[in-house]
Amino acid sequence: MSKTPAALQQFDIVIIGGAMAGASLALGLAKLNQQRKLQHLPCLSVALIEAHQADDSHPGFDARSIAIAHGSIFELTRLGIWPKLAHLGTAISDIHVSDRGHFGMTELNAEPLGLSALGQVVELAKVGQVLFSELQQADISLFCPAKLASLTAKADGHYLELDDGSQLSAKLLVAADGANSVVRQQLKLAAEQIDFGQSAIVANVETDKPHQHWAYERFTETGPIALLPMANMASSNPSSSNKARLSLVWAVSPDKAEQLKNISENDFLQQLQLAFGNRAGRFMAVGQRVTYPLTLTRMTQPIYHRCVFVGNAAQTLHPIAGQGFNLGLRDVVSLIEVIEQQLAQHLHGDVKADVGNSQVVHQYLASRQQDRTRTMNNIEFLVRGFSNQHWPLVAGRNIGLRLLSWLPPLKRPVAQVAMGWR
Ligand SMILES: Cc1cc2nc3c(=O)[nH]c(=O)nc-3n(C[C@H](O)[C@H](O)[C@H](O)COP(=O)(O)OP(=O)(O)OC[C@H]3O[C@@H](n4cnc5c(N)ncnc54)[C@H](O)[C@@H]3O)c2cc1C
Repeated sequence: MSKTPAALQQFDIVIIGGAMAGASLALGLAKLNQQRKLQHLPCLSVALIEAHQADDSHPGFDARSIAIAHGSIFELTRLGIWPKLAHLGTAISDIHVSDRGHFGMTELNAEPLGLSALGQVVELAKVGQVLFSELQQADISLFCPAKLASLTAKADGHYLELDDGSQLSAKLLVAADGANSVVRQQLKLAAEQIDFGQSAIVANVETDKPHQHWAYERFTETGPIALLPMANMASSNPSSSNKARLSLVWAVSPDKAEQLKNISENDFLQQLQLAFGNRAGRFMAVGQRVTYPLTLTRMTQPIYHRCVFVGNAAQTLHPIAGQGFNLGLRDVVSLIEVIEQQLAQHLHGDVKADVGNSQVVHQYLASRQQDRTRTMNNIEFLVRGFSNQHWPLVAGRNIGLRLLSWLPPLKRPVAQVAMGWR
């Protein structure tokens, strides 16, 4: 017996992917709808399609911790999201940057900038739980777990089929489906990939010294080591207050990453101590070690007919400067602003704007051009410049780091970039 095809569900906006970028966008649009309801204006119909529920299997909300920059906290607060996450954050008050075996080092500090923190560190698994529960309560249609199976682009919108048989249409399709975007593949769009020949080994480590909210970035011959301060586990043991939990991202060659993943805990701690030094204290324990290949994937133009790309689907960065989600969030914020502008043009009629028209798509592209290019170029420069032992480069970067220490006014623009200020 042939199955009756599911009825077509029509939406203004369909978002594919509900991890950091897609969930932030969906919640931001739900907030925009709330404001429009209060003004008795027509609301947008929004659907979010996510393949995984917020459990251990979720690839976007895994064991990683990420640093959310000060500028991103400001934007997440405006979207109504940070107040729900604030209890999960550990403040970064200072960042120490050094070049192993050379004289260059500098610090970025919140206090001289008149800030209480340069950013906040959050554990993605915990963030995922909160965002998922917010999405379930928000005024959007959540399809989860469900996967985009196929899509057809037509003049008036995209027609989608999900793996559970649901049929959807979207005036605007938003791809927030990560580095290997299925939307990008289905639309046969190209993305450039740069392989830095590095993998990241990611783990939580414990030190014998409180972190005092310092984060560290240490450039070594094999790749950078980043340590982010984390909240201590709840413990009844008073000696735990003299210890610290930090999130480690250690970039090395893929072979070395495999080796570091598989050696004993003691050997790992010894090698880490040797590579990082003693500035954060003595490394006492390491949790589960996970590896990630480090590549930069970018679309030249993260748009298509009635379709835009945000977050990792548009560009996936090396985590050297902790900018991936910070840049992805700026995609999300810009898109919401462009949609708001489009809706504002229809204030005095009951005709709802077409939020997928080419004006919206091209305005989004224009709004993202400069920030994307600058951030991706900066990161490529950092990865190549600081993984190189060619002496003019070593000298140049060490003089640069020293200059930053000696001339505090130079730090402000660097700090502004690090903090993701728009
Ligand atoms: C080691 C490491 C450290 C990092 N540290 C930082 C940091 O300190 N600061 C920072 O800002 N960034 C950091 N990043 C980057 C940051 O983690 C990412 O930029 C961000 O999490 C990407 O979110 P996203 O939503 O764009 O993509 P993803 O997390 O890749 O999410 C894509 C989502 O789409 C879903 N999906 C895929 N295909 C389909 C389909 N067909 N149908 C339905 N759903 C689908 C997936 O299930 C997933 O939930 C780091 C990254 C790494 C690897």
